[in-house]
Amino acid sequence: MKELEDRIIKDGTVKSGGVLKVDSFLNHQMDVALFQDMAKQWHEDFADAHINKVLTIEASGIGIAAAVAAEFGVPAVFAKKSQSINLDGSVYTTPIKSFTHGRTYDVIVSKRYLGPDDHVLIIDDFLANGAAMRGLLKICAEAGATVEGIGIAVEKGFQPGGRDLRADGYTVDSLAIVESMDPETGEITFRH
Ligand code: 5GP
Repeated sequence: MKELEDRIIKDGTVKSGGVLKVDSFLNHQMDVALFQDMAKQWHEDFADAHINKVLTIEASGIGIAAAVAAEFGVPAVFAKKSQSINLDGSVYTTPIKSFTHGRTYDVIVSKRYLGPDDHVLIIDDFLANGAAMRGLLKICAEAGATVEGIGIAVEKGFQPGGRDLRADGYTVDSLAIVESMDPETGEITFRH
């Protein structure tokens, strides 16, 4: 998606350790009009899928998922990072290792908001190694929900998450795929 690529070039900064910072429009301050354009693109791309729920993970996925849910006219559910243990069996839960923070935390989704009747579009801001996405897929599997596809704002193509998910048969629709980025020069190239 050219609009997103142009914005990454204009406002993104390349950090060491393979991290792209896009705080000015995606991860801290949010350009909601851009999110709406992204949502329109996914709505077009998934026109034939009967999506009745959008699923994401807090925090950075929520703003994008909200725009997507509004476009599809369906609810958005976000997996919550949880401190407490699941004692009463009312939630699906899975551990996820954070790419940006390096630690593992448990995420939960209430059984009230995800189940076998759901046809889910999973949305996230970034796809790197795929740990966050694998966690969300595990929760969908536990719920008996059908995953219709995965929508990613920025996939880092030099990391294996996207490749592995496609090899497993998932439809991964990334609106920008970063092929390479150089922390020295700041240069970013995209895959088309
Ligand atoms: P993964 O689980 O695929 O390794 O990493 C995906 C998660 O880590 C995303 O939910 C995102 O929040 C975070 N993340 C991974 N790489 C980056 C990056 O380069 N920049 C930012 N801002 N977040 C990232």
